[in-house]
Amino acid sequence: PLILAIESSCDETAASVVDGNGVLRSDVVASQIDFHARFGGVVPEIASRKHIEAICGVCDECLDSAARSLGTSRLRWRDLDAVAVTYAPGLVGALVVGVAFAKGAAWGADIPLIAVNHLEGHLYANKIATPDIQPPMVVSLVSGGHTMLVHVKDWGEYVTMGSTIDDAVGEAFDKVAKALGLGYPGGPIISKLAAKGNPKAIGFPRALMHSGDLRFSLSGLKTAVTIYIQKEQQAGRELNMPDIAASFQQAVVDVQVKKAMVALDETGAREFCVGGGVSANPGLRAAYEKACKKRGVRLSMPPLSACGDQAAMIALVAHDRYKQGKFEDWSLDVKAHAPLDEAY
Ligand code: ATP
Ligand code: MG
Ligand code: FE
Repeated sequence: PLILAIESSCDETAASVVDGNGVLRSDVVASQIDFHARFGGVVPEIASRKHIEAICGVCDECLDSAARSLGTSRLRWRDLDAVAVTYAPGLVGALVVGVAFAKGAAWGADIPLIAVNHLEGHLYANKIATPDIQPPMVVSLVSGGHTMLVHVKDWGEYVTMGSTIDDAVGEAFDKVAKALGLGYPGGPIISKLAAKGNPKAIGFPRALMHSGDLRFSLSGLKTAVTIYIQKEQQAGRELNMPDIAASFQQAVVDVQVKKAMVALDETGAREFCVGGGVSANPGLRAAYEKACKKRGVRLSMPPLSACGDQAAMIALVAHDRYKQGKFEDWSLDVKAHAPLDEAY
């Protein structure tokens, strides 16, 4: 079966086609970042409007590129076997655009509708680089809205082991970048700076590092960086941006790796994987490579292009849902919050 999947939970309008063998036939992403950057973050109302403007073009382009990949002259909606869409979690107004569009397309083409949890998508993005990845495993989801360790007992069977009690990791990167007067989104900017800095230059706090549980806290770290910046400026010293970035990033990485290892211990899992925008961070990836190698745990990571939001990951989940025959009726609604434990 051919499935077209749509993703519109935040500020990327994306579509992707997967074939019956789970092979991705197209992957189109339209980012709205330029429209949000001048506000220093995603503006929900703008996101909804930009999704409406982009979604037809993104889907057309996705169908065209899938047709080229399949070697057919044209692919139409009615040539598909299902339409899939992210229904949660995310910005409600943004999700509504994708879900309404997917319903219309599925209705018009008289094909089934599949609902996908965005976080399950971030997990499935690992299949792009490592198709044979196999539960039981632990996944670390680190993004703009989430920071959590999840026990993947099986595909579709998830137990959240711990998550952040305040800010998400990506949010911390964005807020620190803002405090340093850098642009949005902060993650890529901070990680570039960090590569040139000394991670041991400043001792920022590692909150809850030894708490014995799997909760995370990042708002104190963000405040510590902000206070450090203010003190340096008051003392008339010039800020060493690379050192601040590297020291901040190291504080984040140390806690992430430590807790991931605790989760691996608790579950006994021999496979570990990551997902979400922050999993593109080179410092984090290198630290996981080292820690997993040391333990003999297999590490999978999405390619850099599939760490952030796209629809290929949604298509891969949809491929499994189709095989299980899990379809939605027209009452499907969006949800701002939806733990992975409750994924369809
Ligand atoms: P969620 O997936 O929780 O719904 P989201 O979809 O908005 O949230 P993603 O698009 O998965 O989040 O990730 C975006 C976040 O990733 C941003 O906060 C961004 O700063 C961060 N990020 C991107 N690249 C990097 C990087 N190299 N290092 C650290 N953070 C990064
Ligand atoms: Mg995004
Ligand atoms: Fe995401």
